[in-house]
Amino acid sequence: MNNIKQEREGWREKAKEVAKNVVAPRAAEIDETGEFAWDLAEAYSKHGFLSLLIPKEYGGMDTDITSFCLVAEEIAKICASSALLVIVQAVGTMPVVLGGTNELKEMVLPRLAKEKGLICFCLTEPESGSDAASVQTKAALKGDHYVINGRKCFITNGGVADFYTVFATTQPGKKIEGITGFVLEKGTPGLSIGKTEEKMGIRGSNTTEVILEGVKVPVAQRIGDEGAGWWQMMRTLNRSRPAIGAQAVGLAQGALDYLVQFVRKNGAKAKEDKFGVQWMLADMAVEIEAARALVYKAATMMDEKAKGTPVQVLSAMAKYFASDVAMKVTTNAVQILQWEGLTHHHPVERMMRDAKVIQIFEGTNQIQRMVVAHTLLKGK
Ligand SMILES: Cc1cc2nc3c(=O)[nH]c(=O)nc-3n(C[C@H](O)[C@H](O)[C@H](O)COP(=O)(O)OP(=O)(O)OC[C@H]3O[C@@H](n4cnc5c(N)ncnc54)[C@H](O)[C@@H]3O)c2cc1C
Repeated sequence: MNNIKQEREGWREKAKEVAKNVVAPRAAEIDETGEFAWDLAEAYSKHGFLSLLIPKEYGGMDTDITSFCLVAEEIAKICASSALLVIVQAVGTMPVVLGGTNELKEMVLPRLAKEKGLICFCLTEPESGSDAASVQTKAALKGDHYVINGRKCFITNGGVADFYTVFATTQPGKKIEGITGFVLEKGTPGLSIGKTEEKMGIRGSNTTEVILEGVKVPVAQRIGDEGAGWWQMMRTLNRSRPAIGAQAVGLAQGALDYLVQFVRKNGAKAKEDKFGVQWMLADMAVEIEAARALVYKAATMMDEKAKGTPVQVLSAMAKYFASDVAMKVTTNAVQILQWEGLTHHHPVERMMRDAKVIQIFEGTNQIQRMVVAHTLLKGK
């Protein structure tokens, strides 16, 4: 095995072990209580899962996108909420890694990599979800600082983060060209947390409003140039959507693994087969493999900067295909277990609720289809 393969395998094995020993005993409870799992954050930090995409010079693990996906997949086999913690940390970090000055990187990245800091990504607003270019949050330059006003919603880790990567407009009316990214620190006057969402799925992940009222942010905490925010966001999402796809693949695989064990144990009753269970299991396995192939193709394209299908298209395909597969697999898993499948007695009902959420966040699956169709119709 060459080095890179060995390194990736190492990440997969480490994630598998943490998922089995640390996440599995907590998965049902996290879903039940909807509380943020500080113990898991601590364990992930210790194993480097919260600094996967941070360069070595800032204390990070500097892995590639494939390894990032492998970690997300292995954890999501057990608990999709817990896998999201790994992904969102990378999503919040990427704009800084891709576009921040050295000074900003020095301020933020070592705290994430070495001091267990958490970061979140604040883009969505009540009036700007899918249409991300319409952000209403404003950042006005006043001498050596900006004053930011606005309201973000559905922010993962909003209530637990130490840093907030916030996208605002510095040129109202300019849409894409006006979007600029900033990093805000917890405790900055004017930054507060609004309501915490009670979600049907991914319940172990903290999702809140983030309110910005006259927040003074030094110019040094701007990410790159004014107007560079849109491209930082897009480059970030191209890297994270394969990981969301990997989360969906892991979730679906976890449901299938559970079902296979169940049918093996209860197969003697043969009751399941009258519903064509074996064919359903086979279809699930095939669809999961297809989704996995797409996810790792997108990751490989990103890692190898390969030419061919544009990477945003493969990332979009991976996210929506894999989460649609996860939805189908988990729904059928509940169906196969019949009324029992609807109860907390089996993890598949949690997995089904989690799959629904994955179809929505990080750009809905309808929007991902639009990305693919738009590129097809545009031609080369
Ligand atoms: C659990 C969770 C965590 C999240 N975490 C974060 C986070 O950390 N940071 C962040 O910034 N955001 C986050 N989000 C927000 C998420 O990215 C948005 O919910 C998503 O982008 C959709 O935006 P919206 O909810 O405003 O829906 P809308 O944009 O209002 O869309 C509503 C519906 O219309 C469809 N639709 C919209 N426009 C079109 C169109 N042009 N053509 C066809 N259909 C269309 C959509 O697909 C959707 O079904 C999170 C969401 C959830 C559920």
